[in-house]
Amino acid sequence: MYQPAVVWDPALLGYDLGGDHPFNPVRLQLTIRLATELGVLDGVPLLVPEPATDDELCRVHAEEYLSAVKQAPLAGWDVGHGLGTTDNPVFSDMHEATALVVGSTLLAARKIADGEASRAVNIAGGLHHAMRDHAAGFCVYNDCAIAISWLLDHGFDRIAYVDTDVHHGDGVQTAFYDDPRVLTISLHQHPFTLWPGTGYSAEAGAGEAEGSAVNIPLPPRTADPSWLRAFHAVVPSLLEEFQPQILITQCGVDSHDEDPLADLSLTVDGHRTIYATLRSLADRYAGGKWLAVGGGGYQLIRVVPRSWTHLIATVLDRDVKPETKVPPGWLDMVRKAAPHADLPTEMTDGADTNYRPWGDGDDDPVDVAIRDTRRAVFPLHGLDPDDPRD
Ligand SMILES: [Zn+2]
Repeated sequence: MYQPAVVWDPALLGYDLGGDHPFNPVRLQLTIRLATELGVLDGVPLLVPEPATDDELCRVHAEEYLSAVKQAPLAGWDVGHGLGTTDNPVFSDMHEATALVVGSTLLAARKIADGEASRAVNIAGGLHHAMRDHAAGFCVYNDCAIAISWLLDHGFDRIAYVDTDVHHGDGVQTAFYDDPRVLTISLHQHPFTLWPGTGYSAEAGAGEAEGSAVNIPLPPRTADPSWLRAFHAVVPSLLEEFQPQILITQCGVDSHDEDPLADLSLTVDGHRTIYATLRSLADRYAGGKWLAVGGGGYQLIRVVPRSWTHLIATVLDRDVKPETKVPPGWLDMVRKAAPHADLPTEMTDGADTNYRPWGDGDDDPVDVAIRDTRRAVFPLHGLDPDDPRD
């Protein structure tokens, strides 16, 4: 029977930026444990990745940059390329650990390209900020861009990438800004108010690829209903028009209200709704092919494990009901490690994710972004920016 691919290996916990860096791999460990305790992974073989090769990394990155990453743990300080900063501290085995993250997303992509799975999920992936020759935003190598590049050479020439992390998916957008075969869509907190300061509606792609970069910058405190209003006003129409052969989604969960690094106000219920929506869009417009990766998310105990358990469950068609209790085995484990942590009790935040579709005549703070983005890209896809039916 058809089974989606789930990539996981404890060795992925080696991508550890150390100390009290927010990108703490414990979030992956807690997610896999929660998914396991809930039975989401019962009978599902976990696919073990190999590190990406230098040739694979050089699909997107410069050779000098690879050399710098390899040498950084020995070089000490001032290695350049964005390495050795507060955001991107150097750690031992940095090259090997990051190459393994890339290998894990490549493995997921290969399973889909080979027809062995229609869907695949890799919560360790989603390093969407890494650039050709420098690290950025906790990301050393860009697994998303490398997997897209690989797919372009293996039978895919219309790839849609949707990025729901709270930060702009700048590394992936940059890698394919002038490539009309890749449609990148990013919903994120407005660049005026959050790093990396890009992702304006007017950033729409270059040359013959004009219209193939799409950005929806959302005001701080945007909550589930408004986020979903913006998503539905822009994304489905573009996917219907673009007709991708595969949907790739970066599913960062730092858009949550409790995330310490950003200011959107989504909930675990919002995330769960987003994943179900992405699944149905992949089924409808991408022949069922869906590759989902993780990304940001820094509320390590209360948010990431629950949201990404919902992600894995959605990919596997084993949806977890919101009112499901968080299993005692998971709570005991966390209590032992973090006795004072505030623990979640259910797989829900109790939020209402109903939204009012754009074009209802009402005003919503996200409508500015909706209008700007539709006007920037819809005409380039033969769509009417002012007609809510488009
Ligand atoms: Zn992020």
